[in-house]
Amino acid sequence: MTSASQLLSRRETVVCGLCGSSRNEQILDQDQHGLGLKTVICNSCGLLFLNPRPTADAYQAFYEGLYHKLYPSRLAFAGSSISQTTGEARVRSYLPYLDGEINLLEVGAGDGSFLFAMRQLLTTARASGLDLAPEEVNLCRQRALDVRLGTIETESSGAYTHIAAFHTLEHALDPLGMLRAMAARLVSGGLLFLEVPDIESNWHGLSMIHVAHPYMFSAHTLSQLLRTAGFEPLTVEQLQTEPFTHSLRAIARLAADPVTISYSAPDVKLTRDAIQRKVGNLQKQALLRTVRNTARALLPQRLIALLWRVRTYGFQATTGKGNPHTPGVHA
Ligand SMILES: [Zn+2]
Repeated sequence: MTSASQLLSRRETVVCGLCGSSRNEQILDQDQHGLGLKTVICNSCGLLFLNPRPTADAYQAFYEGLYHKLYPSRLAFAGSSISQTTGEARVRSYLPYLDGEINLLEVGAGDGSFLFAMRQLLTTARASGLDLAPEEVNLCRQRALDVRLGTIETESSGAYTHIAAFHTLEHALDPLGMLRAMAARLVSGGLLFLEVPDIESNWHGLSMIHVAHPYMFSAHTLSQLLRTAGFEPLTVEQLQTEPFTHSLRAIARLAADPVTISYSAPDVKLTRDAIQRKVGNLQKQALLRTVRNTARALLPQRLIALLWRVRTYGFQATTGKGNPHTPGVHA
């Protein structure tokens, strides 16, 4: 298993994943797990990202090991009733955009809750998925869902009418490349359904700042990213209700013609102040981190997952297993 020190020993400095600029400045030097990661803001377009960050190889080893220890939420939700309710609510949210002949691909299918709900609610739609984790793919196949091991980049060119990705883009080391790969696999006028954590939502502490999210999006930077990748955003919404709080939902159409983008320099001080206000007292954060790390070292992983679920969703949620893509979880 990759240790935190191994993860951090292989780091690299990166340029902005949206506009490509190498001009950025630090706005925070703390992260949820105390890994010494720094958050910067791009001076050209305002995108927030971790810099320097672990290399692609280090991230791969991380997702095969340490990730599962740091994020018990995956274990806590796969296949649970909460996960299924979330999947159904999600499908219902997108129903106005799901008519005619449908051939949908979900990137990062997780436990398959969205695809399962698609099958229940839209019986004639074709829907399949991709996931990087073999255990998630197996879970989906047990539910008779058409889910393959892979990424959008390795997917043979498709002709999808819709592509969906919920809480996946922020994990990508090249989100622009991921969106462009999606664009290349959509039919003319095809639609993209996207949800990511909202860095401008009303969060507190360091929950939004952690190693699994190399990028942090606002409605503005997400819109700019979509345009740069060749999409026309139809809506970019800050979600306010459970189970989608602290998330952005974007619906975008593949643009017919190349879109001209102009990036504008951000107000760095305003952003830094806003983020630091949300983070709050750093000593308190350090204390909470020590408690979390100690619990992680001492308690069995399933018990941690159970405690996490009770704290987040109350006792009603203590039956069933986990959803890695439940908004608010931010794994
Ligand atoms: Zn930039």
